[in-house]
Amino acid sequence: MLDRSDINVGKQATGNKRAEGVSNDANHRKEKSSTDQPYCLTSPSDIRKIMTTYGFAFSKSLGQNFLIDAHIVEKIVSAADVEGRLVIEIGPGFGVLTEALCERAKRVIAIEKDKKIPPILRSLVPADNLEIVEGDVLQVSLDEVIEQAGYDDAIVVANLPYYITTPIIMGVLEMSKRTNVLVVMMQKEVADRILDEGDRGAITIATSYYADCVRVTDVSKHSFMPAPKVGSSVLRMNRHETPLSGREEILFFKVVKAIYSTRRKTLLNSLSALKNISKNNMKCAIIESGIVPSVRGEKLSIAELMVLSKSIARWEDKVE
Ligand code: SAM
Repeated sequence: MLDRSDINVGKQATGNKRAEGVSNDANHRKEKSSTDQPYCLTSPSDIRKIMTTYGFAFSKSLGQNFLIDAHIVEKIVSAADVEGRLVIEIGPGFGVLTEALCERAKRVIAIEKDKKIPPILRSLVPADNLEIVEGDVLQVSLDEVIEQAGYDDAIVVANLPYYITTPIIMGVLEMSKRTNVLVVMMQKEVADRILDEGDRGAITIATSYYADCVRVTDVSKHSFMPAPKVGSSVLRMNRHETPLSGREEILFFKVVKAIYSTRRKTLLNSLSALKNISKNNMKCAIIESGIVPSVRGEKLSIAELMVLSKSIARWEDKVE
């Protein structure tokens, strides 16, 4: 299985550099929600008031760029289609998405790493169907959370902390099979890569192995406070049945990892990193899959990679 840390996030790191500074207040104010808290969570001036009242400062290292665009909130919540469902929100912050999710979902469980946030969030979003879990989402089994809540499955919604976009997405897809839909905001560059509309990477293959991914919307950096340096996109990922299992699946992810960590090499040379199979047998496995051994592995489609993994599984057992 591809380890989360194995995926080359490459240029994703640019997303860490979300800028300091505060977006202007223009046109983000919407009507206050049905909850009786006095602040509008898409209003920069209200966010500043909340920060002063609670002595809160944005943490760059926790990727805190809060959404201040009511139209994008609506697009995310509509795309998630949460009516009657359990929602797991990753990184609720002050609750701009949480508030809208609580109004429509059956129940919302929000996982937040910043210890300062849960008491603020509780007072800003006093909804009965909200449960706040304090912790690092990378350390939490979402499937256990879902089971303990008494549900079979859940929808994941997040304006992701960009410094860990890839580990979160891959962790959820690989380990939390009870999450059947993810609607997540990320750096546009990572979204383009996932959709194979940019620089193809291991994450392109790995995400499409687990889910059908579509773009909900692109999001301007001015929709956040503070504004990040890069543009963002929201993707909806619908989990589908995984086409491989057992040894073939393990081999598939080993092949993807080998190819994308040695992108300049030919397929045969990239795959010589795999153990348990001689170079000759590997060559036979590649040819048997209808692939030319001298091709660059990154040119292969997910379908070709799956055929190749099955063929390698057969040739691994053959004695030369
Ligand atoms: N949902 C809010 C919004 O849209 O305004 C905040 C989004 S902000 C981009 C990311 C949030 O994730 C922050 O609240 C941050 O504290 C939280 N966070 C960062 N790292 C986390 C982690 N490892 N586990 C859970 N939450 C995390």
